[in-house]
Amino acid sequence: MNVQQLQADLIEYAKSIGVDKIGFTIAAPFHELKNRLRRQQELGFQSGFEESDVELRTEPLRLLKDAESIVAIAIAYPSRMQDAPQGKKGERRGIFCRASWGVDYHTAVRERLQLLEAWLTERVPGVNMKSMVDTGELVDRAVAERAGIGWSGKNCSIITPEFGSYVYLGELMTNIPFAPDTPMEDECGDCTLCIDVCPTGAIVGPGQLNSQRCIAFLTQTKGFLPEEFRGKIGNRLYGCDTCQTVCPKNKGKLNWIHDEFKPDPELAKPLLQPLLKISNKEFKAKFGHVSGSWRGKKPIQRNAILALAHFKEVTAVPELIELLQRDERPVIRGTAAWALGKIGGVGVEEVLLDAKAREQDTEVLAEIDKGLALLTI
Ligand code: SF4
Ligand code: SF4
Repeated sequence: MNVQQLQADLIEYAKSIGVDKIGFTIAAPFHELKNRLRRQQELGFQSGFEESDVELRTEPLRLLKDAESIVAIAIAYPSRMQDAPQGKKGERRGIFCRASWGVDYHTAVRERLQLLEAWLTERVPGVNMKSMVDTGELVDRAVAERAGIGWSGKNCSIITPEFGSYVYLGELMTNIPFAPDTPMEDECGDCTLCIDVCPTGAIVGPGQLNSQRCIAFLTQTKGFLPEEFRGKIGNRLYGCDTCQTVCPKNKGKLNWIHDEFKPDPELAKPLLQPLLKISNKEFKAKFGHVSGSWRGKKPIQRNAILALAHFKEVTAVPELIELLQRDERPVIRGTAAWALGKIGGVGVEEVLLDAKAREQDTEVLAEIDKGLALLTI
């Protein structure tokens, strides 16, 4: 087997199937990352969505015992929406982050990885492979960094010179000794914009994220959003792009390359009020194919309520009252109570007092009290 030729052909093939950047690295352990992940665990900075076994996350040979190389791929996604609808009074809109525009990137990246696997299987007898994206054990960003896809920015994103940080990442471990690429130099320099603008102070230092404070994580939780963050999520329904949109390295990177990631503006920036009443079936039919729906409709509805409170949208008061009085889910009832207090208006106090007299759930009762307190501010 001529590995050099195979590698060159693989690079060409990857381009032909919509891989925008490809890099290679050895299957050696990620020692520095291991220490960093341990520190993150000790500090309680992890989201809890990631694989908890640090060894598995940093030692490729535990995942593929004869691994020799890791192929890292990147697929660019758009940074701007064409014909974005504008919200207005009575028709407020929320926003899904860019990584939730178009088809679920897990599907898109997985499809490319499967094509690469099939291509290698045809050409290399006895090839062993294991591919992963996002939810796999390996840390996509660490692999991409070592494979020269981009440098790891202070905002914790991998930044490519070609597409900025708007890239989906995936990787394929193989037992083929592909030649490794050289990691890129860090080009953040003295810039600290992402750290400065983060609304919750989640970037605690260059390249160090406290996920528990990061809005991208908080929008995905299913319980009550801690009060500290309620005023900070704005109209975000899923995810947060602030530390990417401010990054000067993303300037001018539109990345309108793949039709599959072009957003339907009505889904990426949906009207908020219809979301309050959406049925499970409708939610699945409408949003089921986007990555932002993976936690179901409850977090999105909770965030929609908070977004309406953020806008102080008075036309939403009747719908919020209905949620407070009728919804089966304490998180929705309680968040609606808080939002009603935030928005205020004639009759809201009576509604909250009436709910307080009938409510049984202690957490919801606490939210009703917070709503009542907000009315006096
Ligand atoms: Fe901060 Fe948002 Fe970036 Fe999270 S995604 S670090 S909240 S700016
Ligand atoms: Fe680096 Fe500045 Fe971009 Fe942050 S905003 S990732 S510091 S270049």
